[in-house]
Amino acid sequence: NADIAMYRAKESGRNNFQFYTAAMNERLLERLRIESDLRNALERNEFVLHYQPQIDLETGRTVGMEALIRWQHPSLGMIPPLRFIGLAEETGLIVPIGEWVLRTACAQAAAWQRAGLGPLRVGVNLSARQFAQHDLVNVIAGTLQETGLAPHLLELELTESLVMTDVDRAIGLLGELKALGVQLSLDDFGTGHSSLSYLKRLPIDALKIDQSFVRDITLTPDDAAIVASIISLAHNLRRHVIAEGVETHEQLIYLQNHGCNEMQGYYFSKPVPPDVFERLLRQDTRTPASTN
Ligand code: C2E
Ligand code: MG
Ligand code: MG
Ligand code: MG
Repeated sequence: NADIAMYRAKESGRNNFQFYTAAMNERLLERLRIESDLRNALERNEFVLHYQPQIDLETGRTVGMEALIRWQHPSLGMIPPLRFIGLAEETGLIVPIGEWVLRTACAQAAAWQRAGLGPLRVGVNLSARQFAQHDLVNVIAGTLQETGLAPHLLELELTESLVMTDVDRAIGLLGELKALGVQLSLDDFGTGHSSLSYLKRLPIDALKIDQSFVRDITLTPDDAAIVASIISLAHNLRRHVIAEGVETHEQLIYLQNHGCNEMQGYYFSKPVPPDVFERLLRQDTRTPASTN
């Protein structure tokens, strides 16, 4: 009967609609919950930094590490940065969170150096909001002074989009940061749209090749060519190169053969809590990179 079929279609349509809104509500609720929890996470001490080693491809030694934030949510468990950094950006909470990251990472690097495990450079990711703060240079100078970390052991990781949004301002600001003596790197290099003419003018010390290119270097000739080109471009501009996302021995060999300076990736270690990182450092006399 056509009437019944019509009625059923309407009914199920309505159910679909209700189902849809229920799913949307749930997502919205989770977002609201995360947002309100995020406001209290700093004072409740729920953030932790994990560290991922950066290996010198010539010596096989750990020369630095990247500090990567995680949120230990009391009921949702460990939340990775990509699930809350965007929200922290939108709400402005990234500014105090970012300052906490900077202070904690610098204090940790200074402590490892005092313990005879350094000197190790520590990389800290800067967000767009932080980059837009007027007092960024003062905050960084103050943090270095407070923690006693030598400025050249702090590496600020910036993305291309962050720098390219307002190149003239960025060039001025990066110059001020360089005057403090810190290192600067361009993160996720190759995924944004930095123009080569600006690249030449930016006082950047290193390019971090994005993991999307590294992933397929031993499978896709185009990715291999892109990686080799980024390395020679960087070297011709007297920049250092770090490959991200190195997961296999073959990738490591390719990078080594093409003169890449450093690598970071699961092949060597995932980002790990400070106590585990410290154990890695204490064993760091032989490393996968030096078995070549
Ligand atoms: P990123 O700065 O490009 O960091 C590298 C990301 O790649 C990390 O993800 C790291 O765990 C992952 N990774 C490293 N080696 C490998 C590998 O061999 N294979 C694969 N598949 N992945 C690898 P994570 O920790 O989830 O961080 C994601 C992003 O969140 C970071 O990307 C960064 O943009 C942002 N982030 C992390 N911590 C902070 C922070 O303190 N402040 C800000 N503003 N952003 C942060
Ligand atoms: Mg980074
Ligand atoms: Mg990256
Ligand atoms: Mg990234």
